Formats: sequence, structure tokens, C-alpha cells
Amino acid sequence: MIYLDHNATTPMDPQVLEAMLPYLKEHFGNPSSESHPYGWQAKAAVEHARKLVASVIQASPEEVIFTSGATESNNLALLGYARANGQFGKHLITVSTEHKAILDTCHQLEREGFEVTYLNVDHKGFINIEELKKSIRKDTILISVMAANNEVGTLQDIKKIGEIAHENNICFHSDAAQAFGKMNIDVNELNIDMLSISGHKIYGPKGVGALFIKKKKPKLELQALNFGGGQEGGLRPGTLNVAGIVGLGKSSEIVLSSLEKDQEHLQSLNKLFLSSLQNQLSDIVINGPKENRLCSNLNLSFIGVPSAALMMELREVAVSSGSACASGNASASYVLQAMQLSEKKIQSAIRFGFGRFNTQEEILKAAELVIQAVKKLRGT
Ligand SMILES: *Cc1c(COP(=O)(O)O)cnc(C)c1O
Repeated sequence: MIYLDHNATTPMDPQVLEAMLPYLKEHFGNPSSESHPYGWQAKAAVEHARKLVASVIQASPEEVIFTSGATESNNLALLGYARANGQFGKHLITVSTEHKAILDTCHQLEREGFEVTYLNVDHKGFINIEELKKSIRKDTILISVMAANNEVGTLQDIKKIGEIAHENNICFHSDAAQAFGKMNIDVNELNIDMLSISGHKIYGPKGVGALFIKKKKPKLELQALNFGGGQEGGLRPGTLNVAGIVGLGKSSEIVLSSLEKDQEHLQSLNKLFLSSLQNQLSDIVINGPKENRLCSNLNLSFIGVPSAALMMELREVAVSSGSACASGNASASYVLQAMQLSEKKIQSAIRFGFGRFNTQEEILKAAELVIQAVKKLRGT
């Protein structure tokens, strides 16, 4: 099979697995054990990983805490910040095309008495900056906007959004599960206060992630979601997932040295795939923007071909419809619906996600298989 679903998850880089193995075997210590070398060694490994993750986003290591993934980071950022700052206001702003880990967390906050504005997006998935400005209220405490969308790859103008948040003394969080490791992120330049990161979207292991929390004055107050041994500054207690953290550190280290090469590779695969399809097929629509788009993502509608039927036909290519996470039912993609795409585009949307280890040959083969399947289903 050819794996083209890298927005859902990525295979681990073999170097990451190599780096992790000793921490699953002989270096099994608990980083909180202060009385012997087992603990010291585990702690040193965790702190090294923290440095590497921080360097990818130009943060300092004290600003990074480890979690179980971007879902937990999003929960901690939103619930933790809102609950700790509710006395200053009860209003938050986010976007209708965010990942469920943001939207469902916002729904929880609504049950707790907060109000949330869900910004609309245009046909390409971008928010309207003027609408954002208008939605800000005296009691707005937090704005959360994802850096890169997981279905259509839209890259929001994070820098501008952060600037607006700060002009209004509002905390700015961004879910960067898709953007981290795929594009340059400088949390200071981009005015980001909190940033969510996931390991398994950047060739690291599943079940590990991080939350960047900017060190600033006055301090950003967050309320922990769990209680226990006081690890990670008390914000995320529980024995650390040492091997996972080492893996996230190693994947970050690889990003530090190969980001540009990866970007060029992904861009060229993306172009090659699209042009191969366009050479042979008509009525293909690109969903999402042509510019300001995640280089690893291509969301296409093959008009007249239901995505479920196409996926059934494409037995040797792993892809998903626009709504893979939600239900496997293409018409359910709330992201494409929020972009107000026509029903025929939504029904026929397929998300292709390219990755570091895809080769040109695989891409040409996958394109050929898609062309055959579409022609067959169209009866042409
Ligand atoms: C994958 C993803 C998440 C969830 O990350 P996990 O580490 O799997 O919890 C959140 N947000 C976005 C945009 C994602 O792509």
C-alpha cells in the first residue's frame, strides 16, 4: 500500500525509534527519582528533549511542558486558562474549522458558563480579520486559532491574529499539531502565548505532545486538569512518558536539520501528484487555498465521484475523505461545510497527505491508481 494519510498520523522515523529504545530497556528510571543514577539519567534525557522541542519554536525550555498529545495540550490550554482567569471575563473566540479537540473543549467551557464565539471562514478556510476584531469584547480572555488546518491545510495569519489579541490584552493560543515541524514557527515573532504540539504528526511516537506556555509578566495562570506528584510544574502531574518524550525530542532534532529539505520534498511531491491527475482527469477541484497552504496536504474533489466509492476502489492507497475523524461519511465534514463548499464538492472530497518517506515513484503510482479509479467510477 501507499500511505498518503500523513495528516492523520505519520510513521515513526527510524532514528526516533533508535533514540527511544534505550529508555524502554536499560534506562528505565523515573525522572522524578532524585536519589540514584537511574532517575538522573531519565531526567537528563527529558530535559534534553525539552531543549530540542523548544528550539524548533524559538522558545526556552522552561516554556515547554510535556503532555500526552495535542488533544491534551488543547484541553489544558483552554480549560486551564479559562478556569484560572474566569474572574477577568467569560468570553473566548475560536474558529468553526478547528479540530474537535478545540471545539469540544469549548463546548465544555460553555457548560461551565463561558461564552464562545466561533468565527466563520471563507471558501478557502481563512477567517476574516475584521470579523475577529469585531468579535472582541471587554470580557474576552482567550483567542484560539489553529496554525494549519488538518483537513484542507489552510494557514491562518497567526502573526496578525496574535498582534490583535495582544493589542487587546487577550491571551493567544494556537493548535499547531499540523504546523509544528512542517513550517517555521517563532513563537515570539508570531505573538503566540500558548502552542499545542503533537509527536505523531512529525514522525514521532503517538501519545506524547507538548504545550508551550510563554513566560511573561504578569505570569500566564493556568489551572491544572489533574492532580498528583507535581511534575511539569504541577500543571501536568504524573510520571513522565520518558521514551515518548525522548522520541518527540529526536523528531524535533530531525526537524531542526531537515525542515527546508522536507518542505522542498513535500512541495515537489504535491505538485507532481496534482499535475499528474490534472493531465488525465477533468473536473478536479482543489479545496482550500492554493497559496498559504500546508505543503504536505492536498484536498481534492473529484466531481461526480462520491469519496466513499473512490476510497473503496483505491485499495492500495491509504487516504481519507475530508471528514476521516468524524465518521467516515464525507457529507459530515464540518470543515468543508463551514467553508460553504457545494454539496457535490463535499461529497467527493479526498484528503491526500504526503510525508517525508514518500518517493516520487510512489506518488506517480498513486496518481495512476487514482486516475484509473476515477475514470472507472465516472464510466469514462
Ligand atoms: C492530530 C491533531 C490533533 C490531536 O493530536 P493528538 O496528539 O492526536 O491528540 C489536534 N489538532 C490538530 C490540528 C491535529 O491535526
